[in-house]
Amino acid sequence: MTNNRTFTMLKPDSIEKGNIGPILEKITASGFRIVAMKLTQLTIPDAQAFYAVHKDRPFFEDLVHYMTSGPIVAAILEKDNAVEDFRTLIGATNPAEAAEGTIRKMFAESISQNAVHGSDSEENASIESAFHFSAREMF
Ligand code: UDP
Ligand code: MG
Repeated sequence: MTNNRTFTMLKPDSIEKGNIGPILEKITASGFRIVAMKLTQLTIPDAQAFYAVHKDRPFFEDLVHYMTSGPIVAAILEKDNAVEDFRTLIGATNPAEAAEGTIRKMFAESISQNAVHGSDSEENASIESAFHFSAREMF
């Protein structure tokens, strides 16, 4: 994994609302190349492992329930400064606090059902990409 890649998931609320196309359009129009992508669904153990860093937080159980409630789109994205630029593009965790024009401002409904995931560091981008994709899928 090079430092010009990040990992994203379009969360169940985005798929449920038919927002895969509009969100991918926004991502690619912002200069990100899709390196790998799949429509999939997390199991409860998958979601518990993916969000293990939050296991002691009060919202953990609801988060796992929500993230396993329907399909997601997992993708690896490439762009210069990908991790930081993608966090800027998605906006604050709480869409009520997200800047105008950000994906969460445009498509999210609440702090829990907030449309998209974006890795918070290059190290986590690498770990999260490997969670969802094999080495030969990350061409
Ligand atoms: N989350 C939540 N309530 C909170 C904080 C977070 O339900 O008070 C959920 C939300 O879906 C968020 C995810 O847990 O995207 C991971 O939280 P984190 O603080 O890592 O936010 P992110 O990095 O996604 O902005
Ligand atoms: Mg996070």
